[in-house]
Amino acid sequence: MTDFLTPEKRSALMSRVRGKNTKPEMIVRRALHAMGVRYRLHAKELPGKPDIVMRPRRAAIFVHGCFWHSHPGCRRCRIPSSNSEFWAAKLERNRNRDLEALAKLEHDGWRVLVMWECEIKPGERLDDALTQFLSIRKQPPS
Ligand SMILES: [Zn+2]
Repeated sequence: MTDFLTPEKRSALMSRVRGKNTKPEMIVRRALHAMGVRYRLHAKELPGKPDIVMRPRRAAIFVHGCFWHSHPGCRRCRIPSSNSEFWAAKLERNRNRDLEALAKLEHDGWRVLVMWECEIKPGERLDDALTQFLSIRKQPPS
């Protein structure tokens, strides 16, 4: 099997995926904002540094890049065929760190939502997922 991206494309993809204000995260933030939900970003003091934190609701959202966080069954998280052992080990460490952070947060009474970048699209499904997670009652249609 050959690598599915050139090195240049891969590093462009990774820097984009790794960046803090990535597009999927912006989509989620915009949706929350439209619901009037207040949030903070990248809470460094919390396990795993959740991307979006709603402290009064004790709720945290991770917006995970499929590659870096090994989205199960997702084609974006295929391990590169060059240097595959390195990548497998690195991604395994990431995964363990994610699971550990999740366990710590839930142990401390946080509700945690993990969202995958490939699944985040603006629209009703996203809004429904967020309102459900935050137990917000939907505005009745006027
Ligand atoms: Zn994915």
